[in-house]
Amino acid sequence: MIDAASLKAIEKASKDSFFKQRNLIKQVLAGKKVLCPTCNKPIVFSAPNKDKVGAVHCALGCTDIELDMS
Ligand SMILES: [Zn+2]
Repeated sequence: MIDAASLKAIEKASKDSFFKQRNLIKQVLAGKKVLCPTCNKPIVFSAPNKDKVGAVHCALGCTDIELDMS
């Protein structure tokens, strides 16, 4: 059973991570050096091609955010 308070906490956490993610994408696309918070490897941008969508990801894949640029 989830009470209102924990629901609010979850909402806030997902909002925070949403903004963090957007910020991260922005920095990577701006050419800034961003390190994966999990493995500390640089996060890079993969341009979309016919097989897959664009994504920002680290070498190990713990950060892997697909960019919906349609
Ligand atoms: Zn990583």
